[in-house]
Amino acid sequence: MLYTITPVYMGAAKFEKSEAVYRRHFGVKEENCFVVFLLRSESELIMVDSGPPRKEINDKLPMFSDIPDYVPMEEALGKVGVKTSDITKIILTHLHWDHCYNLDLFPNTPIYVQRKEITYAVAPIGPDIRMFSALPDCGNPGWFDGWGRFVVVDGDVEVAPGVKVYLTPGHSPGSHSVLVETKEGPYLIPGDFIPKFENFTDGVPNGIHGSIYEWYDNYNKIKNLTENVLPAHDMAIFNRKVYG
Ligand SMILES: [Zn+2]
Repeated sequence: MLYTITPVYMGAAKFEKSEAVYRRHFGVKEENCFVVFLLRSESELIMVDSGPPRKEINDKLPMFSDIPDYVPMEEALGKVGVKTSDITKIILTHLHWDHCYNLDLFPNTPIYVQRKEITYAVAPIGPDIRMFSALPDCGNPGWFDGWGRFVVVDGDVEVAPGVKVYLTPGHSPGSHSVLVETKEGPYLIPGDFIPKFENFTDGVPNGIHGSIYEWYDNYNKIKNLTENVLPAHDMAIFNRKVYG
């Protein structure tokens, strides 16, 4: 089964670039997009990730980034002609705060996540507590709204014909990367395992990594899958409206 891939813009914010590209670009601030990806075939409309919190929630969470031009999910999908009820499956690359909110808008949609990720998200440690929005004053983490609909997977698993997840920890303990078959060849959607094109082309870890050793192991695992990669926070992905 072949798919097209549409990146859907949900806003942007400036971050220190060395947070995304390890030990490079110190002192440089760069715009980072927030995005979900739509994978469209004849029979599926799969969404990869579900974005950061809505503004009214985000405003109550002062430890998170302000996203000045945040686009609410319904509006973001509407701009590409999609309704929330059209989505057949959701794949969450990982459960960090900017990838797993808005799940209450998809009350009947199965949500694919790795067992390692969801297990860790219950009790993260150190700086990860903030990343997984597990602080006491955050309310429930975004992924709580998917409760009862999770399809928990272990390792490298086909989600639908032409769509396969590869377990790629390193950024977070149970991140997976999504390989999608298209008429241009396979595309990889790695989530924050690869936040910028530079991470993939130069083999440089995300500056935010749970394990740099795991990152390199899994970089070696994915680098030969395809040369077509769609990073999670690189504004350049919007140079094209549709891939595949
Ligand atoms: Zn992340």
